Amino acid sequence: MEPLVKAHLDHRRTWLDFDYCYPVISRRSKGLSLGVDLNPDKVCNFDCVYCEVDRTNPGRRSDVDLDQLEREMATLIDLAQSGEIYSFAPFNSARPDQQRLNDIAFSGNGEPTTAKGFSNVVEHVARLKVNRGLSDVKLVLITDSSRLQAPDVVQGLETLMAHQGEIWAKLDAGTEAYYREINRSKVPFTRILENLLRTARRWPITLQTLFLEWKGQGPSKGEVHAYTSLLQALQEDGAKFQGLQLYTVARPTPEAEARPLNGLALNQLADQVRAALPGLPIEVFYGPDGRVHA
Ligand code: SF4
Repeated sequence: MEPLVKAHLDHRRTWLDFDYCYPVISRRSKGLSLGVDLNPDKVCNFDCVYCEVDRTNPGRRSDVDLDQLEREMATLIDLAQSGEIYSFAPFNSARPDQQRLNDIAFSGNGEPTTAKGFSNVVEHVARLKVNRGLSDVKLVLITDSSRLQAPDVVQGLETLMAHQGEIWAKLDAGTEAYYREINRSKVPFTRILENLLRTARRWPITLQTLFLEWKGQGPSKGEVHAYTSLLQALQEDGAKFQGLQLYTVARPTPEAEARPLNGLALNQLADQVRAALPGLPIEVFYGPDGRVHA
């Protein structure tokens, strides 16, 4: 297990007075990730019980100013390329091997694909990456999978995948009922599954699954069985999965009843998935207490 450094626990999606772009040291990126927040208004079409976004305070703005976004990203790239960023807290706690720019990620305080002109933003960021010679830096979309069918989003994905792209797509449930309980979205579960299938038939995607203790309970045996059966069915229908990131709550969330699963429980879940889908690479990201629990 990769030990947590202070910067892993500080995932504030802010940098100085920037509205859209922010740096984080990310466990899943194993280095520096430059985030693009296309939802500075904090609006999301999911309402996950474990969401870290505090929506009791208003967002910064609701529009996307592409010129400003590009200026902010260019500044962060400068700081990353010069190494100056690692002199600022909390980035100064990053180990030497984490002091590398891994990716530019469309993520943030809501669902990036709901942003107006998504494909245009991806196009601009991809061009900036090319102009800066960052051919080994990935372009990552972190998505709840709800809008992967929209034509503008598909166009954005085409650009993304032509520029060292990766799609990290959320699936936290095996049944509609658990999806409604954990992700609390009005988007039908069948839409999420259709979108995962459609996208993963065309490009290999990375699945992201967060399992947690919600109201004192982890996911039931039946739920986990339904989840692994779903993944098997998607694979049989032609979905290609690059891997699975299995994780739990890592930082405090506004919902007090959303708590991390312990390491033992996460390992058991990972074993169940491995048994059902041999060959699927699984990375486990433990909660704040690390892997070992009684
Ligand atoms: S999809 Fe992401 S931003 Fe939206 S509610 Fe869930 S965790 Fe929060």
